[in-house]
Amino acid sequence: MMINSDTLLYAVFGNPVKHSKSPLIHNWGFGYYRLNAVYLAFEIEDIQEGLLAVRRLNIRGASITIPFKTAAMAHLDYIDPDADSIGAVNTIVNRNGKLSGYNTDCQAAVLPLIPLGIKGKTVCIIGAGGAAQAVAHGIQKHNGRIIVLNRRQEPGEALAEKVNGRFVRLDDVSGLESLNADVLINTTPVGMSPDIDAMPIPSSCLHPHMIVMDIIYTPLKTKLLIEAEKKGCRTIDGLSMFIHQGAAQFKLWTGLAPDPMMMRTAALSGDT
Ligand code: NAP
Repeated sequence: MMINSDTLLYAVFGNPVKHSKSPLIHNWGFGYYRLNAVYLAFEIEDIQEGLLAVRRLNIRGASITIPFKTAAMAHLDYIDPDADSIGAVNTIVNRNGKLSGYNTDCQAAVLPLIPLGIKGKTVCIIGAGGAAQAVAHGIQKHNGRIIVLNRRQEPGEALAEKVNGRFVRLDDVSGLESLNADVLINTTPVGMSPDIDAMPIPSSCLHPHMIVMDIIYTPLKTKLLIEAEKKGCRTIDGLSMFIHQGAAQFKLWTGLAPDPMMMRTAALSGDT
């Protein structure tokens, strides 16, 4: 599709943002559906100015990433109830100058777990930051029993309380080994490139019946997932959540539901 004066602009705002795979998946989607639109990455200092640019330049939609997912909320005209409850937005839709905020991370995280069953299962969420808030909200909505494992006590306890869960300190290894989790989800950056030999928990905490999910996708196979596979666990990589949150953003902007597997291929095309 030729870029001309009718081309619609979409964007991602973050800092840093150079590593983002969002331009790959959204520009693939615009090409696939032959939409006259383009998606660009902007590394900014101030989200208020970024959202002012959305209004002034009539940017039709935006992804919001680290560290602006909470700060962006103060500059919107509407916030979806799930995003409000999570306390973070990752998607902005510009409808005739009115900016609405959504959180597509939440549903994206639980989507691969739904067919495996969440209700009544014990789900250990490692981390208590922005991503953990979205993941925990999704698990709670599907009636999973949540244990929050976090390095710092205060945010860990606060998240556990918010989702009627239990808190265990990450360095309490004896506590960890007796957790009896059905599902374990890493939402910390531990294991992310370049520290690819790091693991958020010792491999002795992993058991063959567990489903182990990582939301880090650089590398695609984190040390946690490698060790989980060795133990015979079912694993879900971080690109899964990324693709589903992106597909949901694309649908909010265009009304079209791209095939997640085709989006995954588009995301991986940047690695070649
Ligand atoms: P965040 O708000 O900064 O939270 C980070 C969390 O990780 C905190 O709970 C922090 O614990 C913990 N943590 C950080 N370093 C740690 C360490 N060395 N040891 C133990 N715990 C540590 O970040 P976020 O927004 O939640 O993002 C977390 C990760 O998820 C990032 O790598 C991000 O790229 C990824 N992510 C992926 C997707 C996806 O679609 N796949 C979506 C969103 C985010 P303390 O409270 O103790 O500091």
